[in-house]
Amino acid sequence: MKVELQNLTKIFPSRNKNANEEVVAVNDFTFTIPDGTLVGLLGPSGCGKSTTLYMICGLQKPSSGKIFFGDDDVTQLPPENRGVGLVFQNYALYPHMTVKQNILFPLQNLKGADKLSKEQMLERAYEVAKIVQIDNLMERKPSELSGGQQQRVAIARALVKMPRVLLLDEPLSNLDARLRLQTREEIKRIQRETKITTVFVTHDQEEAMSISDMIVVMKLGVVQQIGKPQDVYSSPANLFVAKFLGTPPINVFNGCVKGEKVYIGSEAVADAKGIADQEVSIGIRPEGFILKDDGPFTVNLSNVEVMGRDVSIVATHECSANPTIRAIIDADNVIADDVKTVRFSIKPNKIFLFNKETEERIYVEGK
Ligand code: ADP
Ligand code: MG
Repeated sequence: MKVELQNLTKIFPSRNKNANEEVVAVNDFTFTIPDGTLVGLLGPSGCGKSTTLYMICGLQKPSSGKIFFGDDDVTQLPPENRGVGLVFQNYALYPHMTVKQNILFPLQNLKGADKLSKEQMLERAYEVAKIVQIDNLMERKPSELSGGQQQRVAIARALVKMPRVLLLDEPLSNLDARLRLQTREEIKRIQRETKITTVFVTHDQEEAMSISDMIVVMKLGVVQQIGKPQDVYSSPANLFVAKFLGTPPINVFNGCVKGEKVYIGSEAVADAKGIADQEVSIGIRPEGFILKDDGPFTVNLSNVEVMGRDVSIVATHECSANPTIRAIIDADNVIADDVKTVRFSIKPNKIFLFNKETEERIYVEGK
């Protein structure tokens, strides 16, 4: 089921009666989620992810804009008539019911033509329990399950009505690191198997990047960039997106363009063909540095961390926007103990320029 968001906007009235400060939680969001894909909604806390999700499921009414499921305009439909499955961060299982009863629950309220016989309900419950691999736990109570198992029950309960769209709001946040990894792979598998169009909300960039076919990066209610995770990482539209994606994060420097060259301090570190002279913010990915004795960029070495496959160089530079710079290089490189400065050349596809005021990307010719 294709899901189309048209100019979706949500404005909340001020919480404080005396202050006239409305909150524009979601601002003019337009995007078509292709049928059968998993889209990750990504951004810091408060950027409007949950509000977007609640508008898609019908728990929140848009202030303006429209939502289509396929060709159906569902904007005015209540949640129960939209055919959506919703999973929250806190799994909200009924504690006094068994796993089986929890999964059966949504089916027991079906009315009219959708009404199922007892046998049909059980069959459906076991079918989804198998998909999420909890069919051996059907007689247990939620308190007898691990966090990961509880979350799988919540997913089964969302799937049992065979939703047209599956909506997940930070579903892994309450799990410990190992379970989080495992469960996110599981969600990806379930989505591939069922091919249900899915929206997955998270503030964790690594989670969104690893699980999504497409990501939508949001900031203060406004969509910043939409694309395949790798494309957004390789070509961020602005400084916010560049900084939000990637671990370790991108290194940011204050510099300038002069005579079609990019300068950090007095050193010309890259070409900037076709760009007028101006001050710029410069982003360099940690993997964008190459150790080179006569390289154009010199940094003060603080520390070298060897981490198996890679070496992480921690350094400082007077033009860095952060206290330290981080460069990831191959473990084959050897750096002597008494070295105080190292020199790098920079991979042209790993350095980005941004407008000093607007922080929008300045695209350099030929890359
Ligand atoms: P996220 O899920 O990305 O953390 P939310 O969608 O929950 O963000 O919130 C977006 C903005 O809308 C925030 O500034 C939040 O305080 C505000 N907001 C959310 N729900 C309400 C509400 N019911 N009433 C007033 N403001 C709200
Ligand atoms: Mg939220």
